[in-house]
Amino acid sequence: MLTRSDFHIHATFYRLRKKDAAIGPTVREQVDVAMANGMEKIGIVEHCNYAAHHPFHCLVKLGQEFRQLKLELGKFFLGVEADLLADGQDSCGVYGRQRLGLDYVIASSHVGPGQQSQLSAYLKEEHRRICLALAENDNVEVIGHPFAGGSRYERSGIIPQWHFGLVPTEMLDEIVNLAKKSGKALEVNYSRMEDPAYQEFLQTMREKQVLFSIGSDAHDTGRQKKALQIHAMLQQMGFQKKCQWQPKTKRLL
Ligand SMILES: [Zn+2]
Ligand SMILES: [Zn+2]
Repeated sequence: MLTRSDFHIHATFYRLRKKDAAIGPTVREQVDVAMANGMEKIGIVEHCNYAAHHPFHCLVKLGQEFRQLKLELGKFFLGVEADLLADGQDSCGVYGRQRLGLDYVIASSHVGPGQQSQLSAYLKEEHRRICLALAENDNVEVIGHPFAGGSRYERSGIIPQWHFGLVPTEMLDEIVNLAKKSGKALEVNYSRMEDPAYQEFLQTMREKQVLFSIGSDAHDTGRQKKALQIHAMLQQMGFQKKCQWQPKTKRLL
């Protein structure tokens, strides 16, 4: 049986927001819902990047709440979702990680139509960043939601319909091989899980015994349920527990 895990739960309470905007969940609120959902191991994150509404001090406050809760070691973890940069480095960095006392770093490419107007250029760029991070960035344990940004090209009207089959197989094979070689995990987190090409990608991950991490990417409490759906699907597909990633570091701060 796979562990019911979710290492991509956002506590959005601490980010800066416009006046009258909805207030996001605290660490406590996300933890309570995860426990009610029967989760066994979870990680709380927020974005660590250069966006104005995610200043570093918000992460400091989030970390303070996390530690004040005195959550059980080995079951609850503190991480960040850092932006995966053009050179394969991440926007948290070794220093940010130390300052925040993190258990892990997820690096996600958030390149989209704003940066690359053509889908083919986007795919190349995300592939390049992921490969660089897998090969060269030891600050990162997990690659967040590979190619999830593709659907933005459909929403922006750049392409008529997005599906995972638009990602060249050679790109996916290279990512899977590098993940295997580096011992880093690929996150399973995609809006259309039933997409046949995504299913094929998952089968390759399973066959090559690449580390995988379940992530709901829940920005509110309701979205956490997605992790249970992913868990059930991977279970059914025959994913092995020995390949299920979880943070190793013991918190020192
Ligand atoms: Zn993301
Ligand atoms: Zn996220």
